[in-house]
Amino acid sequence: MSAVEATEAAEVPPPRGSEEGVALPRLATIRARARRRRHEVVVVVVSVDNADEVVAARGWDTLAAVVATLVWRGTSLAGADLIGTTERGLTLAVSAAADEVEDATRRLAHLLDDLVDTPGGPLWASLRVAAHRCRAGERSAECASAARAALTAGRPIGTLRWSSPTIETTREGELVTDLALALLSDLEQVGLAYQPVVDLSTSQIVGAEALVRWTHPQIGPVPALTVVHLAESHGLIGRLGRAVLARSLATAAGSDLPPGFRLHVNVSPFELREPAYVEGVLGLLDEHGLPPSLLLLELTETALMADEGEIRPVLEELCQAGVGVGIDDFGTGYSSIARLMDLPAHTVKLDRSLSRDIATSPEAFDLLGSVLRMLRTTQRRVVAEGIESAVQVAHLRALGCLLGQGYALGRPGDWPLELIDQSTEGSSPDSSQPRKASRFAVGSPRKRRQSHSLRIDDANPSSKIGLNDSSA
Ligand code: C2E
Ligand code: MG
Ligand code: MG
Repeated sequence: MSAVEATEAAEVPPPRGSEEGVALPRLATIRARARRRRHEVVVVVVSVDNADEVVAARGWDTLAAVVATLVWRGTSLAGADLIGTTERGLTLAVSAAADEVEDATRRLAHLLDDLVDTPGGPLWASLRVAAHRCRAGERSAECASAARAALTAGRPIGTLRWSSPTIETTREGELVTDLALALLSDLEQVGLAYQPVVDLSTSQIVGAEALVRWTHPQIGPVPALTVVHLAESHGLIGRLGRAVLARSLATAAGSDLPPGFRLHVNVSPFELREPAYVEGVLGLLDEHGLPPSLLLLELTETALMADEGEIRPVLEELCQAGVGVGIDDFGTGYSSIARLMDLPAHTVKLDRSLSRDIATSPEAFDLLGSVLRMLRTTQRRVVAEGIESAVQVAHLRALGCLLGQGYALGRPGDWPLELIDQSTEGSSPDSSQPRKASRFAVGSPRKRRQSHSLRIDDANPSSKIGLNDSSA
């Protein structure tokens, strides 16, 4: 038994009730099997929120029938196993390859979300679904607890709530210190990956999105959402945001930028609340001799809606100064489209859930068509995110969607444009710092590329159609 297996298997009896309904040895077995197949496991907890109403109206037998239906639906997904039920819900484990396990979990949440046939007639079970991606060395009891905790405290993404991996654990304090050290000292752990934004009809690169990357010396790569969540919860988000912005602007300034190129940078609403945020952004642009129109700051739909009152004046100020604002993950919140369209944002990034099924489901194709038609009337620049196959590209083109981003068009990686001056490599993000004192080490602008154009068949040279078609 390896050290990892030994830690995972060392099941300390959980506090009573915390892993209610979860067969921990079963979860441990599923994880061991997954490890042999080089798969990862997500623990998914499903709770029937209106269980009391169901019992009051139709009795306990009906609630039991609802849970049984959910078990049947959940386990019909390939790779999903039942690891326990309670009177009011169930827990499942989803096993799949690392780059597929989160999508499989979303498919599971989608499968569950339907009317339930019961002896007394159809019934709507109002479900809360939460998920935790198990990490190597984490005990199964910890995985189950993290998934349960995410039911209330998780990051809602669509109908699914994700735990914040590594944060649910007692290591949060240590991790925050490690992140602070990585940001403040010369540890070269935090960097950026860039993902191209591509014109779907010409295949030219028209922009790039900067995505934060942190490789923890012991844990390894920490998911971007976890880094952001940690930074937001512990007063580090301002520093993180400034470092990302400064570094990506420095990289852009050292590149041969095609006309109309946009640098997309994600920002947290917490950053926008900092005093003199707009002046800071404009100052950095000025320092690098870049026009405000180069920059496009992305805020998620959920963040925008939650803090609209506070954020709107800052967004208006940015827009007036010529800086672009984008609504990220459009379609994941529950905000009314009219309200969203009223925001001062000139780009809308369609969440990948909107285009995921367009090649296989006529309903999904029609829905996306209507969303695009509506957005066209508002003159917004629209980018479809999470494009994973050539078929999706073809369907998006047919629907008149002009811009896209996704694994099929280019994975996050090196800066995708030609660099004018290789001496920018390893330079400090803060141009007032000497080059070698890099506080935010980024290994991105390494390679020279031949052109700005991303030939679609670059994405998968071995494929006849040239695009990564694995998801089709
Ligand atoms: P986002 O801004 O929506 O970025 C897109 C995410 O989807 C990235 O995940 C990217 O790697 C992933 N992605 C791109 N193409 C595909 C695809 O075809 N299929 C699939 N399944 N995924 C794809 P990543 O890098 O893990 O970032 C997650 C989120 O973390 C970002 O979502 C953004 O909200 C946030 N984030 C990342 N970097 C920063 C940052 O510097 N500051 C702030 N505030 N947030 C950041
Ligand atoms: Mg984004
Ligand atoms: Mg997005």
